[in-house]
Amino acid sequence: MDKQAVRQTLDQLAAFLVVKGEKASRVRAMQHAARSELLATGRSSALDELREQVPPGLAEMLRIPGLGAAKVRQIHELLAIESLAELEAAAGDGRLAALPRFGAKTAENVRRGIAHLRQASTLRLFHHAQDEVDAVRRALAGLEGAGVLRVEIAGAVRRRCEVIGALDLVAVHEGQAAREALVRRLGEAPGVTEIAGREGSVTLRFASGTVVEVLLTTPERFGLDWIRATGSPTHVAALETRARALGVSLSAAFPDEPSLYRALGLAWVPPELREANGELEAAAGAGDRLPRLVEPGDLRGFLHCHSNYSDGTVTIADWAAACRAAGYEWVGITDHSKSAAYAGGLATEDVAQQHDEIDAVNARVSGIRVLKGVEADILADGTLDYGPDVLDRFDFVIGSIHSRFGMSEAEMTRRVLAAMDDPHLAILGHPTGRLLLQREPYAIDLEQVLAKAAARGIAVEVNADPHRLDLDWRMVRRARELGVTLSIGADAHSTSGMTNVAVGLGIARKGWLEPDGVLNTRDADAFLAFARARLVATG
Ligand SMILES: [Zn+2]
Ligand SMILES: [Zn+2]
Repeated sequence: MDKQAVRQTLDQLAAFLVVKGEKASRVRAMQHAARSELLATGRSSALDELREQVPPGLAEMLRIPGLGAAKVRQIHELLAIESLAELEAAAGDGRLAALPRFGAKTAENVRRGIAHLRQASTLRLFHHAQDEVDAVRRALAGLEGAGVLRVEIAGAVRRRCEVIGALDLVAVHEGQAAREALVRRLGEAPGVTEIAGREGSVTLRFASGTVVEVLLTTPERFGLDWIRATGSPTHVAALETRARALGVSLSAAFPDEPSLYRALGLAWVPPELREANGELEAAAGAGDRLPRLVEPGDLRGFLHCHSNYSDGTVTIADWAAACRAAGYEWVGITDHSKSAAYAGGLATEDVAQQHDEIDAVNARVSGIRVLKGVEADILADGTLDYGPDVLDRFDFVIGSIHSRFGMSEAEMTRRVLAAMDDPHLAILGHPTGRLLLQREPYAIDLEQVLAKAAARGIAVEVNADPHRLDLDWRMVRRARELGVTLSIGADAHSTSGMTNVAVGLGIARKGWLEPDGVLNTRDADAFLAFARARLVATG
């Protein structure tokens, strides 16, 4: 690691510590310790662990020019804001300006800073991209007098990619004359600061920093153009090759996507699968080799959430109410375990109290069943951090790695394989530890881990936190080939985190998952039977 990289890493370490409320003397001491570690190994275990503790949305706020860690801490404490979207809203509606030592000027700078971030970063996380492009879609669909018939999201957002470069929309209008009027109205749309047009497509730049490519099309060409704007480029190229081979002219009318796929002898391919990964072969003929992808309505259980017994903000009763309202049959509460001091993990002596509370909620509330889970730390030697007697008291156990990310691949693989020997382990949580655009996955031989998961009947998580989306969708498909059952884990720390599930579901679909491959499509009894199968077998 060169000097400048060390400097930047130490700055980041300091910022995280300030956000956590550490004193200046402690910040200096931690920086001092980290410096020698960085020079020796190029990695700081303190920073790795801080990334587990600081909500990722706050880490994103730290990148806003001129905001600084002390202010981020203030925003989090006083407004309970944990995401860029919430911050942008607060900067717009006066809440930010009203904070002590903030004022209108700071609020305005925050808005500009977020805009700057959007312009400067070519890549953003799925949920940010979806929010941005959907706001533009709604604005364009509502443009009066513009002759817009329909506006649809396309591009990598529609394909549910985990990280998004460009934002794409398709706008449908009547005939060529209507197009000129539409382009004029787009230029005058609220917030648009710049419009650059090419034939058939315009680039809109907004004051918010958002840049969106809008493909303009007519009803007759909509099917083809939506496919083209959705991509991937390799999927589209394969369709074009097929059209040439079959002598199908793509200048014919294709008013919707199925009509084009049909002309090519294919079933309609769900956008998540359009990655040139065998989907055309599966769609050929009757298309019956395409998966019946898992859908929101298939999920019966809400898994992996933190309550106020660890670093969540929600009570057990509130989780039960929120999950029932969202239509789930059961919810698996999984607070952090005792060694997770960073996240206020559940001390052994508090387990009984939490379980009494869950029993009381189950007795009082109908229409939802609360399960006693835990997210136990997998320690460096591969043991889970509660003993078997404590683990026995839980309905199910997720095991996750939250420390010592810098191990060699051989050590890390051995660590996780050892954890899988514990018959309590039902689900391997966020199996690579990646934080998208922030932290690389740790070194681990996933093939070995997945093979063992299949052999032992341990589920592997698709962690639905949009900052993680771990297991990666490419490996989700591989896991399924190996016979692994996957679970979709919200990893929610507040009820607003329930929206994670939709993002994780996109990744599950992108990994070709069908309902029977997803653990939380089962009812509570079947889920518990899966989770406790090895305990029953070993007596
Ligand atoms: Zn975790
Ligand atoms: Zn968690």
